[in-house]
Amino acid sequence: MITETPLVIESLTDINQTPAQDSWNKVLSGATKSVEKLLLQLDIPLTELNQRQLACLDFPLLVPQPFIDKMEKGNANDPLLLQVLPQSDELESVEGFINDPLAEKHSNLQKGLIHKYHGRVLVLLSTGCAVNCRYCFRRHFPYEENRIGKNDWQSILDYVGNDPSIEELILSGGDPLMLSDQQLEKFIKQAEAIPHLERLRIHTRLPVVIPQRITNRFIDILHSCRFDCAIVLHINNSQELDNELSSRLSKLRQASITLLNQAVLLRGVNDSLEAQVELSKTLFKAGVLPYYLHLLDKVKGAHHFNVSEKDAQQLYQQLSLKLSGYLIPKLVREESGKGSKTPVPTAL
Ligand SMILES: *Cc1c(COP(=O)(O)O)cnc(C)c1O
Ligand code: SF4
Repeated sequence: MITETPLVIESLTDINQTPAQDSWNKVLSGATKSVEKLLLQLDIPLTELNQRQLACLDFPLLVPQPFIDKMEKGNANDPLLLQVLPQSDELESVEGFINDPLAEKHSNLQKGLIHKYHGRVLVLLSTGCAVNCRYCFRRHFPYEENRIGKNDWQSILDYVGNDPSIEELILSGGDPLMLSDQQLEKFIKQAEAIPHLERLRIHTRLPVVIPQRITNRFIDILHSCRFDCAIVLHINNSQELDNELSSRLSKLRQASITLLNQAVLLRGVNDSLEAQVELSKTLFKAGVLPYYLHLLDKVKGAHHFNVSEKDAQQLYQQLSLKLSGYLIPKLVREESGKGSKTPVPTAL
C-alpha cells in the first residue's frame, strides 16, 4: 500500500531545490486527496461517498491538478476519472484477484532491486507515486519494507557491478521521477562507472499527471550521460496526452531520448477499438511509440477493470486490421516466475 505523501522521501530535504523543481513539487504537494473535493470540482454528484472513502482506507485517493484538468466536467464515466476514483467495487472480494499477483515479494531478494529478466534489472528508486491508479498491481506491495535511501544505492550498484550480464538499468518504483533531478543525476553518475551498463530506461507516469516534471535539467541529465536512454511512459487513454505534455515530450525527443508507451487494458477506460486506435495515433503524433498493452494484473480490488482474455484478443485482432504495424503495441501479460512478459496469443 502506498500511504506516504510524496515529500517525505528521504534525502529530498538535504538538497537545494531549483525553481523548476519547486514548481512540480508544489503541484505534487497540492494533489487532491479527497473524494469529495474531486467530485465537487468536476460537477459530479456525490454518490457512494461512504464506500469510496472506505476504499481509500485500503489505497488512498491521490491525483494532481493537471490530471484533473484533463477530465471532462460532469462526466462520471470520464476515462481519466475512472482510473483514480475509488469505487465500491473495490471492496468486493473476487476469486482469483489477490494481493500480490506477481509474487514480487519473493523475487525481491535484494532491497530496491528486482532481477528476473536476462540483461536488465528493475531498480525501485522511489516508493511513492504522484498518482494512485486504482488498478495498480502494486497497491498492496510492501513498499514500506522496500523503502530505499541513499545508503541502499551502493548495494544496488554493487549487485549490478558484480553481474556483467546486466546491460540495462530500468528505473522504476513507485515512480522514479519522484526523486529530485539532483538525486537522479547522482544515481546516474554512479551507474555510469559500471562499464558493462549500456542502457538506461525510466518507467514513469509522473509526466502524464504533472508535465512540469520534465524539467530542462532532467533533459540535460539524460542527454549528457553516456547511456542510450529510453523513457517508457504510462498513458492509457489519448485524452491524457494534451499539448503541455506533448511539448515537453518533444524536447526529450530533440535530446535523442527514445519514447515508448505502455498501457494497461482497462474496462471503461480504453477497451474499445476506437480508444486504442486514437491512443496509438495520438502517441505517435507526440513522438511516442506504443510498446506494451498489458492485460490487467489480477490484483485484489481491481476486478471491475478486468477485460477477459477473449475480449482482449478480439479487440487486438480488430486493431491489427486498422493500424500500421509499428502503431500496434504487444499484447502481453505478466506471469510470476517467467523470464519475460508473456505474449497473449492473438492469431488471426
Ligand atoms: C517488465 C519487466 C522488465 C522489463 O521487461 P521488458 O520486456 O524489457 O520491457 C524487467 N524486469 C522485470 C522484473 C519486469 O517485470
Ligand atoms: S503511477 Fe504506476 S506504479 Fe504508481 S500507482 Fe499508477 S500504475 Fe501504479
